[in-house]
Amino acid sequence: MNENMDEGVCILCGKVRAVQTSWTDTNPGRRFVSCSHECKAGFKWVDPPMCHRSTQIIPGLLRRVNRMRREVEEWKAAEMKMRMLLIGTWVMIVAVGVGKLMF
Ligand SMILES: [Zn+2]
Repeated sequence: MNENMDEGVCILCGKVRAVQTSWTDTNPGRRFVSCSHECKAGFKWVDPPMCHRSTQIIPGLLRRVNRMRREVEEWKAAEMKMRMLLIGTWVMIVAVGVGKLMF
């Protein structure tokens, strides 16, 4: 990696370069150094190429993790609705009980 490719300030446009991670199907999790989107100069991989087996397996695992995260969020939302329904039911039961005691 020469000086133009390292992290830091790009000598071409003056913007900060940073190590980023690719999440494409062909390079899942592979790190690279790049400038901004406007300045494509100096793009360089940090990690060596992925083996063929990794490019087959990792994207599927990532999709599975993302699907499971969405499911967890859906379950959390459903749990919150059930809690609110339960609290509402308790409030109604108490209100009816207090009403019967008073009248
Ligand atoms: Zn640049």
